[in-house]
Amino acid sequence: MIAQRMERLGTETAFDVLAKAKALEKQGKKIIHLEIGEPDFDTPTNIKTAATKALNEGYTHYVPAAGIPELRKAIADSVSRTRGIEVDPDSVVVTPGGKPIIFYTILACINEGDEVIYPNPGFPIYESVINFVGANAVPVPIKEENNFEMDPEDFKEKLTKKTKLVILNSPQNPTGGVTSRKDLKLIADAVADRKDLLVLSDEIYSEIIFEGAHHSIATFPGMQEKTIILDGFSKTYAMTGWRLGYGVIPQGMCARFAQLMINSNSCTSAFTQVAGIEALTGPQDQVKTNIAEFKRRREVIVSGLNSIKGITCKKPKGTFYVFPNITKTGFDCRTLSDRLLKEAGVAVLPGTAFGKYGEGYIRLSFANSVENINYAINAIAEFIERN
Ligand code: PLP
Repeated sequence: MIAQRMERLGTETAFDVLAKAKALEKQGKKIIHLEIGEPDFDTPTNIKTAATKALNEGYTHYVPAAGIPELRKAIADSVSRTRGIEVDPDSVVVTPGGKPIIFYTILACINEGDEVIYPNPGFPIYESVINFVGANAVPVPIKEENNFEMDPEDFKEKLTKKTKLVILNSPQNPTGGVTSRKDLKLIADAVADRKDLLVLSDEIYSEIIFEGAHHSIATFPGMQEKTIILDGFSKTYAMTGWRLGYGVIPQGMCARFAQLMINSNSCTSAFTQVAGIEALTGPQDQVKTNIAEFKRRREVIVSGLNSIKGITCKKPKGTFYVFPNITKTGFDCRTLSDRLLKEAGVAVLPGTAFGKYGEGYIRLSFANSVENINYAINAIAEFIERN
């Protein structure tokens, strides 16, 4: 027996495609995985050593629901430094990955019938959880002709008195778009005098940026008080499986998020949190090396895709995803993704896995070796030639 509300809950197609790809591998097929959104690098050694040491030192018990104070302080210092704002450690809530911050923000702050603005195509969990709580999901199209940045004019068109939450994501999954400071300011100006509205700024890819700089909407006057910053360790430190992320929550709301933690997880794993301190305060050279490697692979995948008849691909400014336009191949994105998996052995995601405005595109992750990327490009090119 399943509750009715579960019918409104969506999913992340990446996990479904991964399962299908694994099933094909079991049958002996070679599959290149360009579907899942995680760095292929191993977690830096200093972080793993810190975790093992913490386990041996007894970090095997419950810890405070909002996170251990030393990690909350390290996060507050890091966010203060990287965003140029002043973050109080008491406004930090540590969670098992960045994802729970999306769930908690919507659960804690949004009532049935409220409107929530979100990017489309965008991370599918936004739309899923908005629908789950019975709110109205109001998509802002993220357009290729606007370099995959949210157009402030499109945004303003969707803003109404009923808007209670605005979700922003830059660098953006699935397009790799990065919102400029100028556009962020226009968005901030549009909501500046709204006391009844919050912004969830998903900055999980803030460090994975190749051109320009990352800007947070929280830096504009009056915005920190109404912005929840989501960030974490999954992408920057190649720690997806550790489950470690956080939210920086406006004053007075933090206790509610901790309460949701108590009701769902009790706390984030203790030894993982100790490793998180090492990640933030230890050497950062591995992060820099990984980003340089992503940049190299970006060149390979973008030029490879652009050499295929019917496919055009913009260079993403951040993340490790490309979102090529496939309309001229004659396939819709779901058919192309299904057939690429079965007939070319390349696992990719259809653009519509990220919302209806994703039609005409597929998402490929370049968190894979140059060798595998080249293999996949050849396999896709051959498939297109054949069909
Ligand atoms: N936000 C975006 C835009 C993402 O792409 C992801 C992961 O793919 C997350 C949040 C969640 O990350 P985590 O693994 O830390 O929960």
